[in-house]
Amino acid sequence: MNSGTLFVVATPIGNLGDLSPRASAIISQVALVAAEDTRVTRRLLQHIGCDTPMLSLHDHNENQRIAGLLARLQAGEDVALVSDAGTPLISDPGYSLVRAVRQAGVKVVPVPGPSALVTALSVAGLPTDRFVFEGFLSAKPAARRTRLTELAPETRTLVFYESPHRILATLADLRDVLGSEREAVVARELTKTFETLHGDTLGALYEWAAADSNQQRGEFVLVVAGASEEPSASKIDEDHLLQVLLKELPVKQAAGLAAQITRGKRNALYARALELQKDKSD
Ligand code: SAM
Repeated sequence: MNSGTLFVVATPIGNLGDLSPRASAIISQVALVAAEDTRVTRRLLQHIGCDTPMLSLHDHNENQRIAGLLARLQAGEDVALVSDAGTPLISDPGYSLVRAVRQAGVKVVPVPGPSALVTALSVAGLPTDRFVFEGFLSAKPAARRTRLTELAPETRTLVFYESPHRILATLADLRDVLGSEREAVVARELTKTFETLHGDTLGALYEWAAADSNQQRGEFVLVVAGASEEPSASKIDEDHLLQVLLKELPVKQAAGLAAQITRGKRNALYARALELQKDKSD
């Protein structure tokens, strides 16, 4: 008997129109939908007019559910894993199940779609070539600030999820630890009626959210610019050394001496010495 497939299906983060036709077809065709909250997923099933049986799979029962789900997959049934919103496993249940199913050699197939993380990044207007997803910060103020202190020198764009209960406290901590001048974007209620995108410095963002309780409601993604890249100390020292030597010596000798002193590459120092001399004469 061939095993079934575990489909990991992304669902909308607000706007039901974002459910893909493929996601809809798979949810309708599988033998079972493993859902984070069956009441939430029932509404989605009603929307697409299907009555696929459901089983709850959340943080508190995931480990107990694995053996039963694996047995059904191995018996040839297809299962769809969904969470309340967005992509399963992204700050949502499913990691242990997916790992166990893959380890058992049963096929796992992604059915991609919305995720608040990528949705926010796609419109924030902050660098996206590299980014760090931190999920939810700790609910405990001291642990939250400790984590932010560790992240302060990070130069990649930072992405956080946040709930309405902590949005103000988190904005205050971001401002205090990363600095009030750091740029960030609050992405609230993405794809929903009250969708808001507001970018400013962390200092101004806190004041803006504190002044309007409506801006503290709903679901949030915080996209924060990375720390600016400072030139390394050794680079500054190299330039200074070359400038001192160039006052007394020709370029070639200045670069040669600098290479001996810094143990740096002679060719690179020669090229830099030429640049510095050109800057001086311009
Ligand atoms: N798996 C989901 C995903 O792929 O984005 C995330 C689930 S996590 C439990 C829920 C958090 O995602 C919310 O607290 C919020 O930070 C963020 N989120 C989900 N939907 C959102 C939306 N429509 N607008 C802004 N943030 C959202």
